Amino acid sequence: MSQPSAFPYPIPEYGAEPFWQACNQERLVMQRCSACHRFRWHPAPLCTHCRADAFEWQPLSGRGRVRTWTVITHAVHPAAVSRVPYVVAEIELEEQAGLRMISNLVDIDPDAIAFDAPVQVAFVAHPGGQKLPVFRPAVG
Ligand SMILES: [Zn+2]
Repeated sequence: MSQPSAFPYPIPEYGAEPFWQACNQERLVMQRCSACHRFRWHPAPLCTHCRADAFEWQPLSGRGRVRTWTVITHAVHPAAVSRVPYVVAEIELEEQAGLRMISNLVDIDPDAIAFDAPVQVAFVAHPGGQKLPVFRPAVG
């Protein structure tokens, strides 16, 4: 008898463990270059702007704006069958123009999503225990 498929589990790369540890504490953090002070996403060994290698992990507000999105209606992974439809969105974080994350947008009717809508990070637990960042409509 086969086991139901599980969603792929995040595997930290390029020293991304601090990002995932912060998620488990329901905090959103990113690398910030010590030379040019720009945030970068995804975690990487060098700044994508100035190529410096020194950085610090800095907390973010978790607030952002919807830049684009798609509604997934066809499960592309067996574990997603029970989740469709769901929304994948690109969120621009308020700390820096162009600082964007791909994530899920939750707690919203897909027909009500709008460009530039304010959103706030939230965290949901993967069945394996790791908390994952998602976004929901901002309150207030
Ligand atoms: Zn830099």
